[in-house]
Amino acid sequence: MSSKTTQQSVTVIGLGPMGQAMTTAFLDRGYAVTLWNRTPSRADALVARGATLAPSVEEALAANEAVILSLTDYAAMYDVLGPAETALTGRVLVNLSSDTPEKARAAARWTAERGAVHLTGGITVPPSGVGQPESLTFYSGPREAFDKHRDVLEVVTGRSDYRGEDPGLAALFYQLGMVMFWTSMLSYWQAIALAKANGLTAADILQHATDTANSLPGFFAFYAERIDAGNHVGDVDRLAMGMASIDHVLHTNADSGVDTALPAAVAGLFRRGMEAGHAADSFSSLLDIMQKAEA
Ligand code: NDP
Repeated sequence: MSSKTTQQSVTVIGLGPMGQAMTTAFLDRGYAVTLWNRTPSRADALVARGATLAPSVEEALAANEAVILSLTDYAAMYDVLGPAETALTGRVLVNLSSDTPEKARAAARWTAERGAVHLTGGITVPPSGVGQPESLTFYSGPREAFDKHRDVLEVVTGRSDYRGEDPGLAALFYQLGMVMFWTSMLSYWQAIALAKANGLTAADILQHATDTANSLPGFFAFYAERIDAGNHVGDVDRLAMGMASIDHVLHTNADSGVDTALPAAVAGLFRRGMEAGHAADSFSSLLDIMQKAEA
């Protein structure tokens, strides 16, 4: 019996902070890594650690079946792969660039037409979380490709959550997280702006902000069950109470001289719920408004 083991290998295209962190994770685990990036100098430190910089996209694609894409968006993918499309045959593109579900579906069709497989990824952590066992990436697309390359995927993040064959699903799950992330972080910035206008620092309110954020999962679980049962009864909260409360928030911010765009947008949604006759319902009844785009 031979004791020789085959070295695992992968190609990484795109060396922003994420692609660099992924390459580092692969090198740390002994992978042979072939790289390509529009700006070749971004590969210097990784080449010094043993990665190989391919002289062309075609050669980067030829080096491995599993090709990780970590680009700004899907438009960048067409810019990079379009001129090298004949080299795509037989490749599995693990696309960890973020974009919309529709763009992911279109990319899966474009890739299939060129004889390659597209596995959509939605990575939920910043560069510091890449390669960590508890970090999570959503995937969707052909199950066979996901199973075959699972070892590679689990170097990127320890947890891989396969959502189904529809290539849009992983992008959708990514966007579900991002709509919460951006709005939550802006609510934190708003609190800091309000604190600073009143002589407090970000550090002064850190514990209170953390406690407030930590209280949210309890609300998520409570309302998820009711919402899925179509129950918006105002037994523990009424939209009219929420309207009064968000008006206090709006005026506290206005009185402090800080920008009110964010609380005004929230107050606007509450007002539309009141006008739609939901005053006595739970504020979860705002979903009736949010589920329909304004005409
Ligand atoms: P960056 O935008 O910093 O870099 C991505 C790469 O895209 C670079 O290698 C850049 O090349 C390349 N690129 C962009 N446009 C083109 C183009 N038109 N043609 C060729 N190459 C192009 O992204 P990040 O590394 O921060 O992130 C990568 C992806 O991961 C993004 O989709 C991002 O949304 C997602 N993501 C990022 C997180 C983060 O915290 N950074 C967290 C989770 C997901 P060049 O070096 O030549 O500029």
